[in-house]
Amino acid sequence: MEKIRVNLQKIEQRIQSACEKTGRNREEVKLLLATKTVEPKRIKSAFLAGYTLIAENKIQELKEKFEALKDVPHKSHFIGHLQTNKIKEVLKYNVSCIESLDRLRLAEKLQKRLEFEDKTMDVLIQVNTSFEESKFGSSPENAINLVKAVAQMDRIRIKGLMTIGLFSADAEKVRKCFQLLKSIQQKIIEENIPNVEMRELSMGMSGDLEIAIEEGATIVRVGTAVFGKRKYPDSYYWNESK
Ligand SMILES: *Cc1c(COP(=O)(O)O)cnc(C)c1O
Repeated sequence: MEKIRVNLQKIEQRIQSACEKTGRNREEVKLLLATKTVEPKRIKSAFLAGYTLIAENKIQELKEKFEALKDVPHKSHFIGHLQTNKIKEVLKYNVSCIESLDRLRLAEKLQKRLEFEDKTMDVLIQVNTSFEESKFGSSPENAINLVKAVAQMDRIRIKGLMTIGLFSADAEKVRKCFQLLKSIQQKIIEENIPNVEMRELSMGMSGDLEIAIEEGATIVRVGTAVFGKRKYPDSYYWNESK
C-alpha cells in the first residue's frame, strides 16, 4: 500500500514537471487511475492519497468495484470497448463519463437508453490515432462526422476526445498521435457545433504521459505506473471477442 503512495508521488512529479516544461497549470491535467485488475483494497489506498478518479474497461469489473467502493466518494469513467448490449449495464454503476464512444450505432443505442431512463451522459469520442487495427476508436477522418451526428442526440454530452497513443519507444511517433488528436479537437472547435464541448483531451498513459501533457492532454490515464504490472496483456482488454 505504501508502494502505491510512493508511485503516486512519482506520477505527480512527472505530471508537474511536464506542466512546468510547457507552461501549463497543474490544475489543467487530471490524473485518472486505470484500475483494471486492481483490487478494491489497493484502489482505496489511492483514494486515501487523494486521487479519486478511476476508470474500468470491463463491465464485470466495473460492477464489482462499484459495490466494493461505494462507501468511499470517488468518480468513475468507462474507458473500455463498449458493446451495444452492455449499455444498460454501464448505466447502472454511476459512471460519470464514457470515454470510449467510437461509433454511431453505439451512440444511437446509448441515446435511446438514456431517454428511457431519463438520464444524460458525458462522453468523449475515442479516436484511433495510431492506425493500429487492434485498437478501437473512430478513424481520424470520420471523427468530425461522428461528433456532428452525436451532437444531435440530446441526452449525450460530448466533452472532448480520447485516444490511445501508439505503443512505441519512438517518442516522436507517439507524439504524432497526440498531435493528431489535438488537431481534430481544433477542427471541431472551429466548426462551432451546438451541444459540443471540446475541453477534454484524454491521452497519455504510464509510458507517455509527459508527451501527452506537452501536446495538450487534460486527462492522463495511468495504471501500471501506480499499481504495478497486470497479469493480462492489454490486448485482453482491447479485444472485442473477450
Ligand atoms: C489500461 C489502460 C490505460 C493505462 O495503461 P498503463 O500503461 O497501465 O498506464 C489507459 N487507457 C486505457 C484505455 C487502458 O485500457
